[in-house]
Amino acid sequence: MYLRELHLTRFRNYQNCLIEFETQKTILLGNNAQGKSNLLEAVELLATLKSHRTSKDQDLVFQKAEVGQIKAIVKRLYSETELTLTLRQKGRRTVAVNHESLRRQIDFLGRLNAVEFSSLDLDLVRGSPEKRRHWIDALLIQIEPVYAYILQEYNKVLRQRNALLKTIRKSLDEGEVNSEESTWEQLALWDSQLAANGSRVMRRRARVMARLAPIAQQWHRKISKETEQLNIEYAPNVNWLEDNPQVVQQAILDRIKLRKVAEENLGTTVVGPHRDEVEFTINETPARSYGSSGQQRTLVLALKLAELELIETVVGEPPLLLLDDVLAELDLDRQNQLLSAIADRFQTLITTTHLSSFDQQWVKSSQILTIDNGT
Ligand code: ATP
Ligand code: MG
Repeated sequence: MYLRELHLTRFRNYQNCLIEFETQKTILLGNNAQGKSNLLEAVELLATLKSHRTSKDQDLVFQKAEVGQIKAIVKRLYSETELTLTLRQKGRRTVAVNHESLRRQIDFLGRLNAVEFSSLDLDLVRGSPEKRRHWIDALLIQIEPVYAYILQEYNKVLRQRNALLKTIRKSLDEGEVNSEESTWEQLALWDSQLAANGSRVMRRRARVMARLAPIAQQWHRKISKETEQLNIEYAPNVNWLEDNPQVVQQAILDRIKLRKVAEENLGTTVVGPHRDEVEFTINETPARSYGSSGQQRTLVLALKLAELELIETVVGEPPLLLLDDVLAELDLDRQNQLLSAIADRFQTLITTTHLSSFDQQWVKSSQILTIDNGT
């Protein structure tokens, strides 16, 4: 797929900026704080309806403006689509495809695919489990947009169940024995909802990791010149023996029973996919605590290349690659491996503060956009 045009209106530090992409390769050149990452963020928002930098639309709209907008024209094998995302200082965001507004946001997803790789992605290895869960979720949303809805439903149930556990905890604190039938009936209801929705999330996460892992392993072997063996293990909070909805639901319910006292004491849900983890090991050693920063970079690079390839396989068209500040962090050898893996296969937007350290062949074949204070 090809992003042909991007039009930002009162988005971040852009007042009104129209960009036409003329080649597969674009270099966004500019000093610090000029708007390079903001531009990539706009593309990320169209692809996932999420930004990895903020969850608040107020941050995205140009200061003091009421409304901001990201508009793009995406060319795919058999179609050309105009995507519009309208963000508001107050009130809900709205989405439109070819000028027709959509009632459900999930219908907007899957029309533009992009993999973002930024210096922040090292947190994927070093950071908290939450970072890794976000990463799997963002990948799933792109290859299976309905997952956005599944995840949203799970989180709703989780919030409600937590609220109930909190009141139970409170009455325990106040020395009341909560013998009211209805409370326990309600909790049982939320247990089964949690199991039903949780199993949907977990089974999809398990499947996508099973597909991604061998591709990432292969890349990793190549980048490390056959010296290292990467292993990726999805570690769900609940284990099951068979990828079957009933089996997984029952496994969740069994674990809830086991952890009942803990949940009542803590006043929160401790069983479910919100406690999942992904474990990376290199030569059988955990990458998170033992990996050198070079090893961690190689790992993230392998994961990103695998994401590109997996999305391409599932969607049937190559996604965009958004590279934010990563080249400077990779040594020359890894830079070259990355650039040759992309070659002319993926439309690529790369940010940089200077061209001098850049691969000169790459510079020659790129469109260079100089970004200066949102213009
Ligand atoms: P660096 O090289 O440091 O990464 P960059 O070019 O990637 O810089 P961005 O993160 O894209 O920089 O842009 C940051 C600029 O955007 C800052 O000057 C910031 O104040 C401005 N900015 C961010 N959000 C808004 C907003 N909602 N309204 C106006 N300006 C904003
Ligand atoms: Mg930046």
